[in-house]
Amino acid sequence: MKIEENSVVSFHYKLTDDAGEVLDTSEGKDPLTYLHGAGAIIPGLEQAMDGRQSGEEFEISIEPDNAYGEVEPALVQKVPHEAFQGVDQVEAGMQFQVRDEQGNTRVVRVVEVGDEGVTIDGNHPLAGETLHFQIEVAEVREATEEEVAHGHAH
Ligand code: ZN
Repeated sequence: MKIEENSVVSFHYKLTDDAGEVLDTSEGKDPLTYLHGAGAIIPGLEQAMDGRQSGEEFEISIEPDNAYGEVEPALVQKVPHEAFQGVDQVEAGMQFQVRDEQGNTRVVRVVEVGDEGVTIDGNHPLAGETLHFQIEVAEVREATEEEVAHGHAH
């Protein structure tokens, strides 16, 4: 069956950057499964999946606008050490989930720990990157009522 709204899709992928370096792959793992049309994967990839069927293989390059967006300098901020109460030792590379003023949760990475405070970056690690995917559609099935109601694949 073809991928359409409310299909549950499993696929294998290999993701490389402009330099051809592998950023992520499902090789040796279970395929990734998602509910099509629910915005569970980046827009550019969801669009490219539309109408494909199981066994199909294709390559697609996706600009930041249809992936993780451009890097927003305003998301790099310096916060006081006190913001990390309860954390034994804050180190560069650590990730934390925070709630912004709008009440949305986002993941921030610690970039630098200084005497004056901690520099954090709320940009997605792949923001600003053009993503090159090799995709193999493994399975396509109709979502169950429960999956549609929940808005995700089980
Ligand atoms: Zn559920």
